[in-house]
Amino acid sequence: KYDRRPLIAGNWKMNLDHVQGITLLQKLAWTLDDAGHDYQRAEVAVFPPFTDLRGVQTLVRGDDLQVVYGGQDLSPHDSGAYTGDISGQFLEKLGCTYVLVGHSERRAIHQETDELLNSKVKAAFRHNLTPILCAGEGLEVRQAGNHVEHTVSQLRAGIDGLTAEQVGQLVVAYEPVWAIGTGEVAGPDDAQEMCAALRAELGSLYDAETAGKVRMLYGGSVKAANAGAILKGKDVDGLLVGGASLDAAEFASIVRFEH
Ligand code: PEP
Repeated sequence: KYDRRPLIAGNWKMNLDHVQGITLLQKLAWTLDDAGHDYQRAEVAVFPPFTDLRGVQTLVRGDDLQVVYGGQDLSPHDSGAYTGDISGQFLEKLGCTYVLVGHSERRAIHQETDELLNSKVKAAFRHNLTPILCAGEGLEVRQAGNHVEHTVSQLRAGIDGLTAEQVGQLVVAYEPVWAIGTGEVAGPDDAQEMCAALRAELGSLYDAETAGKVRMLYGGSVKAANAGAILKGKDVDGLLVGGASLDAAEFASIVRFEH
């Protein structure tokens, strides 16, 4: 498991303007420094709103922070008449390492389809961004017992046409929709079951070595109080954290579980 560097990612969603974003990131970096955090043991990433990214870049470069960052979405296109959209090209230039693709809020509110998400994943790779492909089932699918099949099929569609080399770099986030922002957390066994199933699928589509490189995150109402148990799963390589990433002390405690 520890050949895969754990990743703790904070999705700020549409919270924190560019001044508040800098303040939170500064506080997070200080808290982790005070705790002697070793970034090799757990990589730390934040996903601010687009309008915060330039400020985040300035702070990260100016203070030589080891925290990395990314966009919450990107356009499948590189440039052109797509009013309101953001190109992976721009994210790359702002120093982004990652980009979220297919967060359940994008799938639900913006009706993003698996086909569109597949083209976003490819756009990310065109611009040297590592996509964090999010997948997960809603409550009805879970209750019907079809959660593994549903989530695996989202993964399959999202990575259609990628090379083994690209897949090896991918990060996948299992985020059961019923657990996002609800206070309901999937149990550690549920998180492990799904991460293992997703990895097994990659093994059969590609090969075991490629599948073994992919980092699988769990997301859904993660807090310092439940992070440790979830991270024990042998196929769980990190966490995607929403609400709790808006509190520097809480998020830093989650990061520290890998120590
Ligand atoms: C998320 O937005 O990816 C998420 C998991 O949110 P929360 O932690 O608030 O449930």
